[in-house]
Amino acid sequence: MCSGRVDLEFVLRAFSNGMDGVFIGGCRLNECNYITHGNYHALNMVLLCRKIMEHIGLNPERLRIAFMSSAEGIAFAEVMSEFGNKVKELGPLGKVEGIDQNELKSKLAGIRKLVPYIKVVKNEKLASHLVNPEEYDNLFTKDEIDKLFSEVISYYVDPEKCQACMMCAKRCPVEAIISAKNQVHVIDQEKCIKCGTCFEVCPTRFGAVTKITGGPVPFPVPEENRTIVRRGKEKAG
Ligand code: SF4
Ligand code: SF4
Repeated sequence: MCSGRVDLEFVLRAFSNGMDGVFIGGCRLNECNYITHGNYHALNMVLLCRKIMEHIGLNPERLRIAFMSSAEGIAFAEVMSEFGNKVKELGPLGKVEGIDQNELKSKLAGIRKLVPYIKVVKNEKLASHLVNPEEYDNLFTKDEIDKLFSEVISYYVDPEKCQACMMCAKRCPVEAIISAKNQVHVIDQEKCIKCGTCFEVCPTRFGAVTKITGGPVPFPVPEENRTIVRRGKEKAG
């Protein structure tokens, strides 16, 4: 497949499954047959992933991308041989880096959960067309990546403000909002991909969806206390 289809999630999954190294081969830059230039996407994804690897303590040399045409068999063999030797030299994933296996698994699982969020937040840079290889290392900086994980955004429905209009639940792309008529809506944080749609669509007169940066998300209101008692009906009752 096009190297542009190699998602950040695929690479992280390979490492989660115990691969010691990941190699991505793409067509030569600027020789893509399509206007999409997917190989640039692949390059940017690799540059981002390498910084994420550094962030969690993994050697970024375990991930390599190279560009060549299908006629360059010798170049391919040389690159693969060199990369294979490099990975052998590094040894099992996490060992040379001194990371405990369980800790590594949990770090990778945590990052994988954030992949949709990372792609939304870094959308612009992931679409860059870097011309000069000297720019590669600076596309994503260490501070930027540290901030990306220390200031993760979460969304929460304020039970005092929610009017159960259901707008957010209808628009959530991953059905992460527990929704029912006349019930305070609740975001399932395990399913939420942090796209921010609920925040945008909640009517301003309610303003019930809160954006939380880097902090803990309050516990959801218990199921038995989710019924919204509207003032008019309260009086009538
Ligand atoms: S942030 Fe996006 S994914 Fe999460 S609950 Fe809101 S709409 Fe759904
Ligand atoms: S859009 Fe706002 S008011 Fe409507 S159900 Fe969602 S959180 Fe509640």
